[in-house]
Amino acid sequence: MKELYCITCPTGCRLTAAWNDDELVVEGNGCNRGVDFAKAEMTNPTRSLTTTVRTTFPGVPVLPVRTDGEIPKEKIMEAMKALNNIVINDALDCGDTVLEDLAETGVRVIATGDALVRKELKNTIHSSQMAESDVPPLADEPEVEAPPPEEDEANEEDAAPQNEEETQQKQKGRPHITRG
Ligand code: SF4
Repeated sequence: MKELYCITCPTGCRLTAAWNDDELVVEGNGCNRGVDFAKAEMTNPTRSLTTTVRTTFPGVPVLPVRTDGEIPKEKIMEAMKALNNIVINDALDCGDTVLEDLAETGVRVIATGDALVRKELKNTIHSSQMAESDVPPLADEPEVEAPPPEEDEANEEDAAPQNEEETQQKQKGRPHITRG
């Protein structure tokens, strides 16, 4: 005997299912769909898969997706690995195909997000068009390094005296001048 929770509807009936020879005896089901669910669970359990895939668009780094049907429960891990390798780099709308055949199950994966990716792509195209027309050509001038910062007079005054003359000048409050 196996205990199951029917996930066909929000009621979530707690079922017991046991084989009596070739017949599956199901109890605890609130309706006949519970029997179908128990039969599927006991023979070929399947699940819908809902997850996200990565995109190349900074504004929309991940896109929500789902399977367009159920896949065998035993294929879930293989399916997740396949989806982890997908990176969307094209405009997609809700319902568009992300992957035609997920983990050789024959089930499509479709986008469930709104048109964020399409909007992002439009923004990208607009930006690149602006960049091509507006950005002037690069000059051939070499790069100019910034000059080294000038010594701070305050730091010079704070420096420790190097000889007796410097010590006397510091004590008198005069500026220190080094003669070459
Ligand atoms: S057995 Fe029927 S009522 Fe109970 S959870 Fe399943 S579908 Fe819902």
